[in-house]
Amino acid sequence: MRQATVYIDSEALQYNLNRVKQIAPHSKIVSMVKANAYGHGVKNCLAALEATDAFGVACLEEALEIRQLGYTQPITLIEGVFAEDEMQQVIEQKLECIVHHSQQVEWLIQHKVAYNALDLKVWVKLNSGMNRLGFKVDEIIDVIQRLKAEGFTCVLAMHFANADVDHPLNEQQKQQFLQAKQACEPILVSCCNSAAIYKYPELHFDFVRPGIMLYGASPFADRNVHELDLKPVMTFSAEIIALNQIQQGEFVGYGSTYSASCTSQIAIVSIGYGDGYPRAYVKQNFVAVDQQLVPVVGRVSMDMIAIDISNVKAEIGTKVELWGQSRLVDDVAAANGTIGYELLCRLTQRPVRQLGN
Ligand SMILES: *Cc1c(COP(=O)(O)O)cnc(C)c1O
Repeated sequence: MRQATVYIDSEALQYNLNRVKQIAPHSKIVSMVKANAYGHGVKNCLAALEATDAFGVACLEEALEIRQLGYTQPITLIEGVFAEDEMQQVIEQKLECIVHHSQQVEWLIQHKVAYNALDLKVWVKLNSGMNRLGFKVDEIIDVIQRLKAEGFTCVLAMHFANADVDHPLNEQQKQQFLQAKQACEPILVSCCNSAAIYKYPELHFDFVRPGIMLYGASPFADRNVHELDLKPVMTFSAEIIALNQIQQGEFVGYGSTYSASCTSQIAIVSIGYGDGYPRAYVKQNFVAVDQQLVPVVGRVSMDMIAIDISNVKAEIGTKVELWGQSRLVDDVAAANGTIGYELLCRLTQRPVRQLGN
């Protein structure tokens, strides 16, 4: 059988959830499991996240999967419903909506009796300068007043555009959020993703919303997961399926983009962009063999890559780590001009998922 596996370490996931609890001890935790738990597979992750207070997903379908697996924690739909007919399922499945535009507010008010009877909160999204979703600061005060008057329990929610770096917009977003918070007291509030959980302890408030840190990847370009005391949850690996000794000047792979500068041992590994391994690298990329970094050479094919094993001991069947403990997904991402989030989310279904601890 072709060995291309995605191993999910439940203990690492639990460890990272505990890190959130350590860093934000007074806040409830909404674990973000959208996009199939950042590509890790929701069904592989929920048990390890049992101690979370709630889950966050991007749409009804993702919420239904969690309910079908038997989990009863609150679930927030972070973009709310996309059409009024979804409100029926929201009520049946006990889901919490975000509202970010006025039509969603009307749809919600239409269903206020059932919604409020279930004690569900409404998350009201502030657009504090990211200009993606939400009400501007002067509008949101009216929206929240109206929802409160209709009997809803509201959570004022905001998302930073630059929590991973120093940027002047951070202060503006923070000020607008605090202004809205003050105008709407008493109110529950939430504004921290993973980067903000680390960066703004004074803004943890009622709910924090960790995503990437749960999976043991870094939200920061300049701090790796070891420095953040997180454990990589996913190990993506494959095996060597062929060996070629090549002479100086011989080529490897499509386009013959690589030629050997000296006699080299090349190994072919059963992984490619058909599995979600990125093809377009901008810097030298590496894999790990026996915890040692080994360069990828030539182009990534759909089902195979070539690596130069001249400096390590390896044979057919040797396991190669594409990302995990020894080769961090964030470093693979950096070599490919992207972020760990994207590589995790765009893994395909072809690699076999394995669960363990
Ligand atoms: C995805 C998401 C998060 C989690 O972000 P990370 O950077 O992965 O921690 C938090 N809040 C909202 C609204 C999100 O959409």
